[in-house]
Amino acid sequence: MARKMLVDEEMNQTNQEEAYYDFDLFVIGAGSGGVRAARFSANYGAKVGICELPFHPISSEVIGGVGGTCVIRGCVPKKILVYGAAFGSELEDARNYGWELNEKLDFNWKKLLHKKTDEIIRLNGIYKRLLSNAGVKLFEGEGKIVGPNEVEVTQLDGTKLSYSAKHILIATGSRAHRPPIPGQGLGITSDEALSLEDLPKHAVVFGGGYIAVEFASIWRGLGANVDLFFRKELPLRGFDDEMRAVVARNLEGRGINLHPQTNLTELIKTDNGIKVTTDHGEELIADVVLFATGRLPNSKRLNLEAVGVELDNTGAVKVDEYSRTSIPSIWAVGDVTNRMNLTPVALMEGTCFAKTVFGKEPSKPDYSHVPCAVFSIPPLSVVGLSEEQAIEQANGDVLVFTSTFNPMKNTVSGRQEKTVMKLVVDAETDKVLGASMCGPDAPEIMQVLCLLVLLKYIRVSICPYKY
Ligand code: FAD
Repeated sequence: MARKMLVDEEMNQTNQEEAYYDFDLFVIGAGSGGVRAARFSANYGAKVGICELPFHPISSEVIGGVGGTCVIRGCVPKKILVYGAAFGSELEDARNYGWELNEKLDFNWKKLLHKKTDEIIRLNGIYKRLLSNAGVKLFEGEGKIVGPNEVEVTQLDGTKLSYSAKHILIATGSRAHRPPIPGQGLGITSDEALSLEDLPKHAVVFGGGYIAVEFASIWRGLGANVDLFFRKELPLRGFDDEMRAVVARNLEGRGINLHPQTNLTELIKTDNGIKVTTDHGEELIADVVLFATGRLPNSKRLNLEAVGVELDNTGAVKVDEYSRTSIPSIWAVGDVTNRMNLTPVALMEGTCFAKTVFGKEPSKPDYSHVPCAVFSIPPLSVVGLSEEQAIEQANGDVLVFTSTFNPMKNTVSGRQEKTVMKLVVDAETDKVLGASMCGPDAPEIMQVLCLLVLLKYIRVSICPYKY
């Protein structure tokens, strides 16, 4: 309530004050969160400027592109490669359905890569049009904050533009980082992995998160030998333990070599490829080593500390529940705040920002029931609480229902891979607290289930076998 009064009061202040600013809002970073906030603010009548780094599929401190990570080097290109990779096993399975295929199936990596790049260029154009159709002025260059209401944009030719804005929004996202091990420069990040000239023959992936699991699945699906190294016992920390084990089993079933509780200690260039050494004393040679060991907020070059914007110890911009920083005229959304680093969440934060600041409707992003998917082959999708979280958070008993079955398609194809579904339910109210599924089309199925969980429509009334 206190915040609502503050925002309303600001909105009622004289419009003459706004005449002193070049813009009502200046956004730094035109990715998921920035574009959403800019467009929606403009739709509320605000005069909006936005700046973005020049386009290239591989990012750096001075390279980016309108559309941001999700569109150019994240969700979209990754899913295109996952779709491409999944055809391999589908074609293999087709043999038992009577399809006569050549003994060796040919795959053209360059063609898939080319199609992927065409698509991200198309989306980059669409995002630019979305901004111009909303009346948002786009500047190409690196943005920096020089005062509570002052931004500076350094253009490609080095010339600097300065603008004043009543509100400034930081939406600069995050970038992959490499672990500090000897030879780290020989490894690549997900940016380069999405644009490799040649398909690896033997890939090493280091990391246990969803990006590591997805690239391991892509490369294996396309025929590479893949070794996946991660620090925990199972990949996908934070997901339901039982489902993590299902994913691990499927990865192994598809031929990925799993190395749990293992760190890489050194990379050395040799004539045969990159020699990878682990803390278990293993050595192997790979032609590609992917570091998928985490991402850091893009906050270093924005001059934030100088203007008094507080950061946490990872460099994430600290914000309140309305996405406002420690400086009242400066706000931040998306990965740069390191709250929940997913595209739909950045979009939600951007929407709430626009509503709060320009829509006269103070709105807090709601982080409960955010569904998410891991595009392993087959995929995992979840919404709500894992079994472990439910047991920790529930006041009373928790019921767990699991169903494991052989998809009918696998009976004829002979593929040994079970689909697993799981519901976690509040024993007293029968309300579903969380749902997970690992199997074909899990993300699409979960989207529907998610709506029901969100709307609290699902109640369960069958006999549990556990708890
Ligand atoms: P971004 O989309 O990264 O946008 C930030 C923009 O700011 C960038 O374009 C950058 O160039 C620009 N910028 C940075 N500094 C400056 C500056 N000084 N001046 C001007 N511009 C600047 N999320 C999902 O929900 N589902 C997925 O399947 C998924 N898959 C992913 C796969 C990979 C490989 C990766 C890396 C990420 C994936 N994500 C996924 C995460 C998702 O991409 C991010 O959470 C989302 O893009 C965050 O949006 P954002 O607006 O905060 O940042």
